[in-house]
Amino acid sequence: MSAPRITTVLVANRGEIACRVMRTAKAMGLTTVAVHSATDRQARHSREADICVDLGGSKAADSYLQIDKLIAAAQASGAQAIHPGYGFLSENAGFARAIEAAGLIFLGPPASAIDAMGSKSAAKALMETAGVPLVPGYHGAEQDLETFRLACERIGYPVLLKATAGGGGKGMKVVEHVGELAQALASAQREALSSFGDSRMLVEKYLLKPRHVEIQVFADQHGHCLYLNERDCSIQRRHQKVVEEAPAPGLSPAQRQAMGESAVRAAQAIGYVGAGTVEFLLDARGEFFFMEMNTRLQVEHPVTEAITGLDLVAWQIRVAQGEALPMTQAQVPLHGHAIEVRLYAEDPGHDFLPAAGRLALYRESAPGPGRRVDSGVAQGDVISPFYDPMLGKLIAWGENREQARLRLLAMLDEFAIGGLKTNIGFLRRIIAHPAFAEAQLDTGFIPRHQAQLLPAPGELSDEFWEAAAQAFIQSQPALQRDDERDSPWAATTGLRLGLAAQTSLHLSCEEQDRAVNLAPDGAELHGEYLHRTQQGVRRQHRAIRQGDSLYLHWGGELHCIKAYDPIAAADASHSQQGGLTAPMNGSIVRVLVEVGQQVEAGAQLVVLEAMKMEHSIRAPEAGVVKALFCAEGEMVSEGSALVELE
Ligand code: ADP
Repeated sequence: MSAPRITTVLVANRGEIACRVMRTAKAMGLTTVAVHSATDRQARHSREADICVDLGGSKAADSYLQIDKLIAAAQASGAQAIHPGYGFLSENAGFARAIEAAGLIFLGPPASAIDAMGSKSAAKALMETAGVPLVPGYHGAEQDLETFRLACERIGYPVLLKATAGGGGKGMKVVEHVGELAQALASAQREALSSFGDSRMLVEKYLLKPRHVEIQVFADQHGHCLYLNERDCSIQRRHQKVVEEAPAPGLSPAQRQAMGESAVRAAQAIGYVGAGTVEFLLDARGEFFFMEMNTRLQVEHPVTEAITGLDLVAWQIRVAQGEALPMTQAQVPLHGHAIEVRLYAEDPGHDFLPAAGRLALYRESAPGPGRRVDSGVAQGDVISPFYDPMLGKLIAWGENREQARLRLLAMLDEFAIGGLKTNIGFLRRIIAHPAFAEAQLDTGFIPRHQAQLLPAPGELSDEFWEAAAQAFIQSQPALQRDDERDSPWAATTGLRLGLAAQTSLHLSCEEQDRAVNLAPDGAELHGEYLHRTQQGVRRQHRAIRQGDSLYLHWGGELHCIKAYDPIAAADASHSQQGGLTAPMNGSIVRVLVEVGQQVEAGAQLVVLEAMKMEHSIRAPEAGVVKALFCAEGEMVSEGSALVELE
């Protein structure tokens, strides 16, 4: 049979991964087809594709998860192959089968391999027989509380409940002792049902301080399977990866080989073809245990690409056309070190709630050797609450780990994002942390260093306010008109020229405000940099003006400064006192209090489900429930009042 020719590829995804897949497809001379929801009509992946097909709808279920529409889009646009990206339908065997049934090529493994690994419990049973080591646990069919109680007793607390259909940390709960089991099981089952339409659970011994080390495997259609080294993804928050790197620091060549060969056995046991990842937990003694296999391209694949020099998407396309893998195991390169961070629109100051809104400012780090940015957004784009809030990934490569780490820090410093909250400061604090620099990696890293990684917002310094005022006044749009740039009236040192002599400014920044008296000089704005001179030392701070906001880089973070608005401030303080509002659009799954009830500080009041995760609304301080504005099952919108406390 002659190999099928692929000339046009449809990407059934959005955001950074859609852009990333299309980049390789274009470089291979292929035509790219994007699909998009109604909300994503102007999204970057739609803009970058050669051909676009509108799926309509907003929610994933009405757009990116519509198998029939995706296949019709491929047929209408002349695509022979569909790349699923990650998430959405990437591990849906039904999608793979429907694509094949339509005579098209699925750029992923055979549907049977997806099925084999689709259920974590079935996968474990299979791996057990293939001789791959497992974490002690229970992954049977019985799902009643009593079965779990007995299983937990046998394996010993703490334990970890996991959704068998799970992914993305959803439906996962640590249980410390038997008293917590019933409630944790019920909550995990609810989350699993709403995320995956399947409430089945398994339970594992919860290993303390393990490392997450995963093996990238790649197989062709001729029975040849390679491992492309490992990635360490131990830096996690709530069991979700935040930082990934390759190779895993300290892993010996013998361990790499043992894990690699185990991963290849796992892939071969299910007739795998294409790119896949076998995830292991590595304990302090160097023993490793199979967790699961992801039958798709992973978010963190770029670190593997960086140390091997291979393009995994190009390999996916070539393998799908019947080509053989071009090297032997011994020829797989491992050169230097790479680190990736995941950039999210979320608010680390408020329990990492996803943020939605317009990217008023979005500047990426400058391109350069060893630097890679995979992103799916541009300045002015609107981040909608309908999809995963990941904006992109920053990947740095170096000859060694320290070089990669410092390069990544530089990239993080150059990034400038405004208009919505992101985790960029949090990422910077992780990468800059001495324990990270020393590669003290395990899954407890973030909780252990919580105090330094998520410091309580401190009072902004006098110096900051002074610099902010200088930059603010000098960047006033009226003084920055292009056509007047050469006029003495447009000079940014407005004060010295004696323009409307404003000597005091009332500014606000991150819920703080200050009336600042302007110092007569000492700071000058040159382009997008504020130069401050003190005792003969001149320092530069990035200062970017966007409309009524000034973004000032200070102390390793970008701060957004505005003219103080007393009305907005009054609104904000009202909503902070007493009234507890929905942090985002979602539905109320539980109301745990009644009107008149006395509650302690930190007590759970209401559970909101949004973006497929449960979020607890808690009492900020002790009080009495004065009013309830929501009921179980109700949909609520962001900002709407839920509970009033007195
Ligand atoms: P998901 O598919 O939802 O991402 P995984 O099974 O891949 O869930 O686990 C995610 C993370 O949770 C792992 O990377 C690891 O940090 C942690 N984890 C999973 N199982 C265990 C365990 N038995 N003990 C300790 N940590 C675990």
